[in-house]
Amino acid sequence: GVEPLFTLVDRGWVFDRLPRRRRNTHKGDYGKLLNVAGSQRYMGAAVLSTLAAMRSGAGYVTLASTKEVCRTVLPMLPEAVLLPLAQNPDGSLSYKAMDALLEAAERSTAVLAGNGLGTGPDACRIVYELVRRVSRPLVIDADGINALARNIDILKDKKAEVILTPHLMELSRLTTLPLEQLRPDPLTAGKAFAREYGVTVVLKGAHTLTAAPGERVWINTTGNAGLAKAGSGDVLAGLVGALAAQGRSPEEAAACGVWLHGMAGDYAAGEFSQYAMLARDVIDALPRVFADND
Ligand code: AMP
Ligand code: MG
Repeated sequence: GVEPLFTLVDRGWVFDRLPRRRRNTHKGDYGKLLNVAGSQRYMGAAVLSTLAAMRSGAGYVTLASTKEVCRTVLPMLPEAVLLPLAQNPDGSLSYKAMDALLEAAERSTAVLAGNGLGTGPDACRIVYELVRRVSRPLVIDADGINALARNIDILKDKKAEVILTPHLMELSRLTTLPLEQLRPDPLTAGKAFAREYGVTVVLKGAHTLTAAPGERVWINTTGNAGLAKAGSGDVLAGLVGALAAQGRSPEEAAACGVWLHGMAGDYAAGEFSQYAMLARDVIDALPRVFADND
């Protein structure tokens, strides 16, 4: 059916749209996510985004990162495929990795890029090349968004569908609009941005909104202030990437991912409190969220 202009996303809406697990299937039927993430300084972002994706149904998740990151995070990610690539002296991913990244992207069903990548020149060039050359749905978060903010017209050369997941500060960088203007009404700017660049935009905050390139908007109903903590966004990015890898449309992957992330956050807060809960607890709560659907 035709989606209304505004959709209040709730449990029924999400569970109607989640990929089904069918009996006679194998891991290749559930998508392959390539996660381009991490640097010496931000290894946790690579771990959290990869773990969240693996907890969200994807058949395979490949973490593409520096050799050092891959070596270090291996014990935490036994189910992941690791793609160790060249690194710069500062511990960030080298642009020399580009060919290997593009090859891996074409073997995947979706690509996530940006979590913990850093904002050096190589990280930015890698993000631009991914936008220009990847033919799979591409989720861009964190430093991937920061890279785009410096060269926004790259988005007009995108080859595939793009989902951006900015918080308010990142939206401010993307649009060059001041925070004071965005804070009372992020939706107007987010919708205009989605329309102008033909991308799906997830406007993260206490009430996360998703805007599609058309006029349509999805309003989330889950989550709490315990999610206002480092690492939460990396978990969301992994979730959205995994749903895109399983063939959900950009807006469904985004709106479902946001709801599931908030629900997992609500379970984590119930168990550990909003004060003490960590991003890893949100990942650990995902099984409970998905189990509600069984
Ligand atoms: P990031 O800023 O990239 O780490 O992302 C933070 C994540 O936590 C986003 O998914 C936000 O929507 C969510 N979040 C942050 N603060 C709140 C809040 N006060 N209530 C609900 N969700 C929040
Ligand atoms: Mg973030």
